[in-house]
Amino acid sequence: MSKSSRLATHCASLADCRMCGHASEVRPIVSHAVSPKVMLVGQAPGKVEISSGKPFAGRAGATLFRWIARAGVSEEIARRSIYIAAITRCYPGRSPSGRGDRVPSPAERDACAVWLDAELRIIRPALLIPVGRLAITRFLPNQPLDELIGQSHQVEHAGGTSLAIPLPHPSGASSWIHQDDHQQLLERALGLIAPELRRLGVTADSSTRSVA
Ligand code: SF4
Repeated sequence: MSKSSRLATHCASLADCRMCGHASEVRPIVSHAVSPKVMLVGQAPGKVEISSGKPFAGRAGATLFRWIARAGVSEEIARRSIYIAAITRCYPGRSPSGRGDRVPSPAERDACAVWLDAELRIIRPALLIPVGRLAITRFLPNQPLDELIGQSHQVEHAGGTSLAIPLPHPSGASSWIHQDDHQQLLERALGLIAPELRRLGVTADSSTRSVA
């Protein structure tokens, strides 16, 4: 079976997953990328993704796609070419603190890991972009983000080895991006991602502005 067929079969099974027993309107959010060589891994979908059915469809997604546009690729092309996964695929609900969404529980993360591992095995991504601490520490050591963002890393996972270039979480609930020289680290990360996307044929369109 071709990689595209295996990915299509995988996505159909993922869309039907109910392992965590979420409310009936909460469904797994599935990427629709075609023949991807790049994977982006976020934390978990938000409420807005339930109605849109697309990953990173809300305000955090708008910020993320602005960043990716600065690496030379429009949202439309990114959604078509980059497989957007997450640590968990179902909306976890609001945080008990009232600030942002609930962080998926360890049990939910463990349950959902089978889907991520399967995607890594099917796609064997040349480039992996973990977004936010939860996704970053899935692949990289649990160090301060300042020591990880703005650098390239070789990482091993269920699908082999990938170049990983982490990004901070684009949610307004994350204050990391506003501290110290973190904006420079973000720019450095986008400057590393841009040539990798070009090398892998994830090409710009005329509406984007490249940082490298
Ligand atoms: S979070 Fe993952 S494992 Fe849990 S129900 Fe959703 S898709 Fe399935």
